[in-house]
Amino acid sequence: MRRKSNVRCLLCGSAIAGDREPRICEECEKKHELVFELDPLAGHEDVIPGKLYLGRVKRVHELGYFIALNQNVVGLLRRRDARAEHVPGAEVVVKVARVRGERVDLLPRESDGDYTIVPLRKPLPLWKIGSITASELGAAVRVRGIVAKVQRTSGPTVFTVYDETGAIECTAFAAGERAYPGIDRSDVVEVRGEVVFRLDRLQVEVKHMEKLYGAEQSSVRAEIDREIDRKAEPAETKPLVATPVLEALYPSMRELAKQLRRAVLTGVPIYLRHHADADGFIAGVAIERALLPLLRSNSPDREAEWHLFKRLPSRAPFYEMEDVVRDLQYSLEDAERFGTPMPIVLVLDNGSTWEDLPAMRKLRVYGARIMVVDHHYPGELKDGRAEVDEVAEIHINPYMAGGDYSLTAGCLGVEIARMINPEEGERMRHLPGIACVADRVKGEAAESYMRLAEERGYTMERMELIAECIDYEAFHLRFMDGRGVIEDLLGLGRLDRQAELIDILWEEARHAREVQLKAALENLRRAELANGLLLCTLDLEKYTHRFSYPPAGKTTGMVHDAVASRRGSEKTITIGYGPDFAVLRATEDVGERYGLNLNTLVAELAEELPGAGVTGGGHEVAGSIKFVAGYRRQVLERLAEKLARLGA
Ligand code: MN
Repeated sequence: MRRKSNVRCLLCGSAIAGDREPRICEECEKKHELVFELDPLAGHEDVIPGKLYLGRVKRVHELGYFIALNQNVVGLLRRRDARAEHVPGAEVVVKVARVRGERVDLLPRESDGDYTIVPLRKPLPLWKIGSITASELGAAVRVRGIVAKVQRTSGPTVFTVYDETGAIECTAFAAGERAYPGIDRSDVVEVRGEVVFRLDRLQVEVKHMEKLYGAEQSSVRAEIDREIDRKAEPAETKPLVATPVLEALYPSMRELAKQLRRAVLTGVPIYLRHHADADGFIAGVAIERALLPLLRSNSPDREAEWHLFKRLPSRAPFYEMEDVVRDLQYSLEDAERFGTPMPIVLVLDNGSTWEDLPAMRKLRVYGARIMVVDHHYPGELKDGRAEVDEVAEIHINPYMAGGDYSLTAGCLGVEIARMINPEEGERMRHLPGIACVADRVKGEAAESYMRLAEERGYTMERMELIAECIDYEAFHLRFMDGRGVIEDLLGLGRLDRQAELIDILWEEARHAREVQLKAALENLRRAELANGLLLCTLDLEKYTHRFSYPPAGKTTGMVHDAVASRRGSEKTITIGYGPDFAVLRATEDVGERYGLNLNTLVAELAEELPGAGVTGGGHEVAGSIKFVAGYRRQVLERLAEKLARLGA
């Protein structure tokens, strides 16, 4: 099949062969007197004797006029041959008489009639971007690719262009302006330029760049797309632990891995947003560690791992408005400053619940792509879809494959990391076990993951220590990612440091916990309810160190565990409250046998006390309630009444 050429004659617009130079049809060539404008990349070897060229007087000498045809080629028009006086800087049409090595002899144009100036492009071989190496330094190259970003710097305008083999920065200088204003991100372009070494990397200094159109454009784009799609294909891995749930989720996990690899290959930024607990950190760090080496080797930007990647912990157990404000700020700023596209935001160990929706909806308004890996209950499925599927392009959650909470985000994150980068993944075999211990999940899969960790020398006790250390560290990190330290704690960095860090942090965390627990237990109020339940209440504001570790939720949990374990983990409810919130924990049997469902209670309270501004929820037997401070007494009293009526 022959494709019709869409190269057209510069003068009359009729179709001509694609490789014809100058791009003038035979008819027009006969009709016009042509004056060539030499390609800036052309050398002496490209100059054709007998033809007319446009030149500029560079220097006036006794011998005559030195006339530049471009920056590389200068010829001599002898004074005795010249038909007129010329001043430096003047434009002049000359005829090339002879070329011998670097010497070019010029003659004046003979006729005085009209002439037509046409650009003459040096025929350059087409290079694949990935094959341009330091040995091409100084060479003229031609590349075709897709613009990933356009950045205006204080010097040149930098176009990052990629094809299926790699990406390179193409720098174009235009005094005080953005070069090539008609060329933008995601355009298909042909760049002709010289390979240079600038800012510690190979670049192409643009001599000419043009946007491709029509069939040429679509065939270049299709070829790049097809090849990148193939390269983005994740590794053929098998799950560390084979379970039906994981098997059912595997195809969409592979699709997620592929989309992340694709993002790296096409210069799309990736933001990881994860819950700031040990399970969330494990999911985030695992995927981060898998992606960074790819980013380093595939991006022409030496700082790509900072410019095109972010991992950010979320303090709330959902992706909240405060998080999205930052994420939008960062991505819009980068779009403005560096010309990067909007990111893929991957939400980990958060993201599946209705509480995540508003923030994710807001992101979508600005064109960010949202993906979710979570193990929290996503609400009732409708036709197999969760509520957040409205905005999440890929949503991975064990509940959507007949599983539950026990397959944690950390486990899923590590399995995905192994698909993205098997080599890095090999170092992470012990992480899912720690995630399972941290989230206190049970079941066959969790046990298999814990066994894998044990095979690597992590005892249950040590995994618990690590989980607690990460919680402690996360508490102090607040909104920072803890890069470096978290890896060391997880045994992905230096193992001597891991041991030292665990010693230090564990000691601190244990001490803080003991102080908190002792004061709390001392001041705990216990009431035996008529239905046999033990209700423990704790005024967190009065009897705990506020704003220090452990925070309210964890403190309430600790107190609850301490009391409940003495009663054989039965019939116990603990409420820790502050001025405008309460945290509730109950033993499993209170949910199963007494029918406690915190979410229902919250809904009832909100209706019964309309002025109290009640919101909140969580699981059946664990979660939190928010209210306005003026209604604290009423809310707590009403709550206690409801608990006393349970199970009757
Ligand atoms: Mn989790």
